[in-house]
Amino acid sequence: MIGLFGGTFDPIHFGHLRPALDAFEALGLDELRFIPAAVPPHRAAPGIDAATRAEMVRLAIADQPGFVLDTCELERPGPSWTVDTLRLLRGRYGADRPLVLLVGSDAFARLPTWHEWRDLLALAHVAVMARPGAPLDEAAFPPGYVAARRVAAAAPLQERPAGHIYVVPVTQLDISATRIRRLLRAGRSIRYLTPERLVAYIDRRRLYRSRTDT
Ligand code: ATP
Repeated sequence: MIGLFGGTFDPIHFGHLRPALDAFEALGLDELRFIPAAVPPHRAAPGIDAATRAEMVRLAIADQPGFVLDTCELERPGPSWTVDTLRLLRGRYGADRPLVLLVGSDAFARLPTWHEWRDLLALAHVAVMARPGAPLDEAAFPPGYVAARRVAAAAPLQERPAGHIYVVPVTQLDISATRIRRLLRAGRSIRYLTPERLVAYIDRRRLYRSRTDT
């Protein structure tokens, strides 16, 4: 089974990385593909260019076997709709290979606002990673939608290519990219919130220091 983890990663941090590793192991993934968004449709455009955000992902995951940077959304013009990315990957891996989309619980709560969202579960499973301050919230889904698809263990995800929702237990880390950008803008340290290699990279390039970066 292949895992797909999309995000702005502006910048990537331990709140992405440790839960991603927990999910990688709990789900028995062959690989986990980190997919930086080019033009995130649901938020203001990030101030740091896509190539730099992707480079930071590459640096952050370089030492972890099975973690892969996938720049497919950066190579495509226009908005990065997740459903289009899943269609592309479904074409790449064939109809039968289980795919699982990892999302934090805050992103999951907004899933029914995503472009052609009903096709997401036809193309992949969804694994939800609980995030501090964002309890699992099904209010935006049609009644019964989540309950009909939810499974209590990871094993059923291996048995079909798509369609299940699983809440995967992950380390709770109250870290956000917003907070990291704020700290940098204020001249504060971001050490221990993201890998040391990234702390040095961001410092060297003086990223996120000015208002236009954030
Ligand atoms: P920002 O603060 O700029 O909104 P972010 O820290 O939420 O950024 P994103 O790149 O927007 O990071 O998130 C990508 C994915 O990672 C989303 O599915 C999000 O829910 C998840 N995620 C981000 N931070 C955490 C965290 N601390 N714990 C669990 N999931 C997280």
